[in-house]
Amino acid sequence: MHQYSGKLILHTGSMFSGKTSSLWKDLNRFRIAKYNVAAFKPTTDTRDGLHRIRTHDRTEMQCTPISSMEEVLEAARTEPMEVIGIDEVQFLQDHPTEIVKAIQELLDMDKTVVLAGLDMDFTGTPFEVVKELMPICDYLTKHHAVCANCGVDAWVSYRKSKERDRVVIGAQQEYEPLCRKCFKMKEEERLARENQMEFLSETQKA
Ligand SMILES: [Zn+2]
Repeated sequence: MHQYSGKLILHTGSMFSGKTSSLWKDLNRFRIAKYNVAAFKPTTDTRDGLHRIRTHDRTEMQCTPISSMEEVLEAARTEPMEVIGIDEVQFLQDHPTEIVKAIQELLDMDKTVVLAGLDMDFTGTPFEVVKELMPICDYLTKHHAVCANCGVDAWVSYRKSKERDRVVIGAQQEYEPLCRKCFKMKEEERLARENQMEFLSETQKA
């Protein structure tokens, strides 16, 4: 029994904000303290191979790919693990309610759960599961990247390409962290550009 058993630690924020590095740092500290640590990440996140979590500063950790929280529960029931880390929770395919339920079950088993996940998508809309987890966690850190446009703390991961799907894996270079003001400005510019394109194609048809 240690002070973090049965506790939920959440690292959230935009892309490039250091969430995964913080998850890595936490898990590494528990490992140094000789706790049994297991790391997981959703199979949808294939960027660095299925069996490792890699931070932007290139530190790595072995992990188990999961397609559902049920696999974490199963592992927690059968293997000796005291600390459970999950990266990119927003990519889990289970319904947010199911994810929260599974995490609560892990906490009831006195596991320490450390999560990292994006708070919002590229439009500034919250990822449901992170929205559910934020109030119920014991420790919450919202991390910030630096606004690529003006240098203050960033707020959102802005997608520079025209791709509008909510999740596009392996396209990190397509994103830049922006603060609220710069995000608003770029969105207005994008909408104006799109309206103009639409107007041009309409006039061409006419
Ligand atoms: Zn800015």
